[in-house]
Amino acid sequence: MTYPDTRLFIDNMWQDAADGRSIAVVNPATGEEIGRVAHAGIADLDRALVAAQRGFETWRDFTPAARSKIMRKAADLLRDRADAIARILTLEQGKPLVEAKTEVMAGADIIDWFAEEGFRVYGRIVPHRTSLSTRQMVVKDPVGPVAAFTPWNFPINQVVRKLGAGLATGCSMIVKAPEETPASPAALVRAFQDAGLPDGVLGLVFGDPAEISEYLIASPIIRKITFTGSTPVGKLLAAQAGRHMKRVSMELGGHAPVIVCDDADVELAVKSVGTAKFRNAGQVCISPTRFLVHNSVKDAFARALVDYADSLQVGDGLADGTQMGPLANDRRLTAMAEFVQDAVDGGAGLLAGGHRIGSVGNFWQPTILADVPTHARLFNDEPFGPVVGLRGFDTLEEAIAEANRLSFGLAGYAFTRSLAHADLLARRVEVGMLWVNTPAMGTAELPFGGIKDSGYGTEGGPEALDAYLNTRAVVVANL
Ligand code: NAD
Repeated sequence: MTYPDTRLFIDNMWQDAADGRSIAVVNPATGEEIGRVAHAGIADLDRALVAAQRGFETWRDFTPAARSKIMRKAADLLRDRADAIARILTLEQGKPLVEAKTEVMAGADIIDWFAEEGFRVYGRIVPHRTSLSTRQMVVKDPVGPVAAFTPWNFPINQVVRKLGAGLATGCSMIVKAPEETPASPAALVRAFQDAGLPDGVLGLVFGDPAEISEYLIASPIIRKITFTGSTPVGKLLAAQAGRHMKRVSMELGGHAPVIVCDDADVELAVKSVGTAKFRNAGQVCISPTRFLVHNSVKDAFARALVDYADSLQVGDGLADGTQMGPLANDRRLTAMAEFVQDAVDGGAGLLAGGHRIGSVGNFWQPTILADVPTHARLFNDEPFGPVVGLRGFDTLEEAIAEANRLSFGLAGYAFTRSLAHADLLARRVEVGMLWVNTPAMGTAELPFGGIKDSGYGTEGGPEALDAYLNTRAVVVANL
């Protein structure tokens, strides 16, 4: 199957941009153009907005059961098409085929979960102070048409988390998916179309991200903004949304600390964070990034992690046996070179990798740097790539202080056999998600999101639906 060109999806129709513009899509494993994606202009956005308003007026009046049926059908179609969609995802994003297929299957599960959770959008009855026959109701309604902005690292699942919650609550959505990886989110949208989603409930656009976000956020039709991406862009969009008093969810960058205590199961720690670190070539917002290892186990931990990194087979995501693919775009290659050089200049020791592989495609060696100074860029800016920065510590308080030093607060990891240590870490480490003695699992039923500069709102659990609901009071006196 060849890689498909991607068109805009507006009012249940796939269409080119009104002015015919399109953007090249490049395979990060080969550097070759593999297709084109339509570039929306203002005229296209205006049509998408009108459709989203009409779609909202239709969809909000569907019962949760009727919405759930269509969502479940879309999830089933995704599963049926998972092999073909995974191949498209690997071609445009680079991750190994097995990871791409896992993403598609997990996406279907997340849609199912939200389809079910939509049944549980409950209001409540509050007793009136003076009249037994006056009903005071708290009702929850969909907030309205939503503009969703999603990045290229999980082209399907970043959309699914927003769509799942938004559609389950009765919102319509215009998704601005990533221009670099457009065809797999388009395949997701097609599954909803084929499942019978009414006209206008879901729109898909691509183009100039800044132009689209500014236009959609300012539109009176759009009632909520949801964004996943970097903290600087998130702050920009949150400020724009604030100017127009729009509801906002922000899932932003992180810089996840990994605290390995003196009593840790080192083998478990290496296995858990090693897999998590190099999955999707480290381009994951919850990727472990700042490794803080007790000095008594630091050398053993580093040796085992180096063995793991050296054993990884890096290559084209479509090739058999590939465990780590290329970086998704060449900006990340430049960033990796800068992180490594800066850390080495600051006195860090290069234990593994550190260089680009070959000159075709965006391949970077799994890289481990030890004794990284806290002022190095690697310990301050989100690396978003397959680079480990490691330092030793002597006391747990010291490790917790380092974990909390940055303004990020998304994910954290810890390894300890002590209940007292685990309890202290759970209370003190300032992150939205903490995994102790276990690899990260971002399941639909748990909150997924950050605190501090990592954003607000969550994309999992019942709270994820609250983010798409207005809560109102309605008081009815019985005459
Ligand atoms: P970037 O900050 O330019 O873009 C990040 C994402 O935001 C992209 O999808 C981009 O299309 C979008 N974007 C940028 N400006 C926008 C705007 N004005 N309006 C709407 N969307 C906009 O950086 P990048 O080079 O694409 O990615 C690098 C950084 O982004 C990484 O270092 C990482 O911190 C962050 N990122 C985070 C996630 C995540 O899952 N939280 C995913 C991808 C990228």
